[in-house]
Amino acid sequence: MDVTKIFGSNVFNEDVMKKRLPKDTYKLLKKTIDKEIPLPAEVADVVANAMKDWAIEKGATHYTHWFQPLTGSTAEKHDSFISPNEQGGVVMEFSGKQLVKGEPDASSLPSGGLRATFEARGYTAWDCTSPAFLKEDRAGDVTLCIPTAFCSYTGEALDKKTPLLRSMAAVSKQALRVLRALGNKTAKKVTSTVGAEQEYFLVDKKYFTERLDLIVAGRTLFGAPAPKGQEMEDHYFGQIKDRVADFMKDLDKELWKMGVAATTKHNEVAPSQFEMAPLFTTTNIAADHNQLVMETLQKVALRRDLACLLHEKPYVGINGSGKHTNWSLSTDDGMNLLEPGSTPHENAQFLLFISALIKAVDRHADILRRSAANSGNDHRLGGNEAPPAIISIFMGEELTEILEAIAKGKKAKSKASTSIEIGVDTLPPLPKDNSDRNRTSPFAFTGNKFEFRMVASSASISSPCVVLNTIVAEALDEIATRLEKAQNINKETKAIIKDTMKEHGRIIFNGNNYSDEWVKEAEKRGLLNIHSTVEALKTFTDRKSVNLFKKYKVLSKEELHSRYEIYLDQYIKQINIEAKTSLDMVKSLYIPAVIPFIKELAETIEKLEVVSGPVYVEKELLARVSALLESAYRKTEKLETELEKAHEIADSFKRAAAFRDKVLATMEELRKDIDTLETIAPRKLWPVPTYADLLYKL
Ligand code: ADP
Ligand code: MG
Repeated sequence: MDVTKIFGSNVFNEDVMKKRLPKDTYKLLKKTIDKEIPLPAEVADVVANAMKDWAIEKGATHYTHWFQPLTGSTAEKHDSFISPNEQGGVVMEFSGKQLVKGEPDASSLPSGGLRATFEARGYTAWDCTSPAFLKEDRAGDVTLCIPTAFCSYTGEALDKKTPLLRSMAAVSKQALRVLRALGNKTAKKVTSTVGAEQEYFLVDKKYFTERLDLIVAGRTLFGAPAPKGQEMEDHYFGQIKDRVADFMKDLDKELWKMGVAATTKHNEVAPSQFEMAPLFTTTNIAADHNQLVMETLQKVALRRDLACLLHEKPYVGINGSGKHTNWSLSTDDGMNLLEPGSTPHENAQFLLFISALIKAVDRHADILRRSAANSGNDHRLGGNEAPPAIISIFMGEELTEILEAIAKGKKAKSKASTSIEIGVDTLPPLPKDNSDRNRTSPFAFTGNKFEFRMVASSASISSPCVVLNTIVAEALDEIATRLEKAQNINKETKAIIKDTMKEHGRIIFNGNNYSDEWVKEAEKRGLLNIHSTVEALKTFTDRKSVNLFKKYKVLSKEELHSRYEIYLDQYIKQINIEAKTSLDMVKSLYIPAVIPFIKELAETIEKLEVVSGPVYVEKELLARVSALLESAYRKTEKLETELEKAHEIADSFKRAAAFRDKVLATMEELRKDIDTLETIAPRKLWPVPTYADLLYKL
């Protein structure tokens, strides 16, 4: 296949625009995309018409305003282009108004009280900075998708994209102030850039469809470990099996068509676990693309009789999935602001932006932690696997020593060996080597970008990016204010670095984040260790976060409160589904499967004793199985009671806490009995595919 021809073939990109739009229209649209002017109405009509013609030539009959409500997935309502003509037939039409604004009846989408249900209307507004594209389904139907933001009629954000766009504007504004103070006169815009590495599991569809837990909860609620896990370390970067390679090829092709620059693919640590990564791009496009990645992974998997699991922890005992979110800032003239430069001036700039990150992450570790929280990720973060729930920054030995040397204002007798005179010296080259990287850190500097590794595999990357952009905007704002007042920029830069290290240096940790010593050390340093989503969500409503998001016009107090309610509610609903699925599986599958085994044992004992006197093994087995069965049964009763009690709690925070502490905890107890039974009962009686089936039969 000719990738250069396929790539972007379904995207209304600059090339297509240039070819199909009158020159003046193109120029005006480009200015709008670059945020220089609002979209002129007559331009919208011309663009809409060109978009429609292009889409129809490619086979489209419908268009949709594609948006990202707070459910975490995407929403689309398809409208056809047809419009009646006077002869009783139809013509294909698409106006500027239809392109720019839509009014989906969105009363059934979460609003957290922002939009009472009688005021069903919300509206979608075209995000012209993310290109429109065509989606093809298996039947060959083509739909024109217009990326949009989704708001209430009073203008409150009801989606993930609106705050993302606002946060991008905020960080751009403050970063520009810093650049200006440093004497940069050319940059007009600073963009946050993101590359999201997506981890996922594949499972044979035939086994998937036999597991109600995988279908409705996305993870196995039961299952004894397979005899082999990931201990042989033979899967990571291992040879890709043909069946998987075929799937990945389809995936790449579908993504390329939609302009998603899928580039990396490999086996991950756990059996049947994989990763894909696209080339990085502007944050809102990266967020749109990641939604397409998740959607396409699932779609293409089904076409190949596979199922794709995006859950953070589909299986206990082996690696879970994350979404490493690589983040940086770059200017419109192509300068990566987190790239150490080759001149003293560039280095001063680099160190200031690094300082902003240190300040931002330390001050708002709680909010950053929250941005990665969901019920699935609770099984990873703070569970016994990577990364931990404590936020710290990996900076690398060399850079840390440089920062410390500057902070101390004296020559450091370390590897870096010299103190750096800001504005005079250049930095020694920093290692960018893969092998040297600290893989245990939740937030790592990787040479010219930061990698936020906590992000949940199934979630939109918008929330983490909104938080990163906003907290960094605040830090840059403060830095800019100091620089703007300073007499001597180099001196002030040094002072900023010194103050940052003094106040926030505790957030830097280059050691092993999985060790128990770190947990103790972090506590000593006063770093937060937020174990669960329920705790983490509190940060939506505390004063620090409300002030921050309000100040940078990213989210208002009302919008934050609505998000708090929505996410608590989602947490409760998810655990509720898991609990009901557990009960269903135990009552209708596991218990009925064990009873015949007990019967068989009892009959065997009876018969054997007649023939040959007392028997031991069978009796012991019978006693064990019966005890486990009874224990499991009692726990289903307990789970039912806990569920009922939890539902009765009026306060949503307390209700969510009860779902975590009582419902989820009881589910886990119940699971223990069932998983033990699985190891005793004959395989032929076991009613669902085992871990070995799910993990090793691809
Ligand atoms: P690894 O798994 O070793 O961390 P990958 O190559 O899988 O690395 O992924 C790295 C990701 O970081 C890619 O998506 C890449 O495009 C992205 N990236 C590289 N440079 C930047 C940058 N300046 N800003 C944002 N993302 C970046
Ligand atoms: Mg990777």
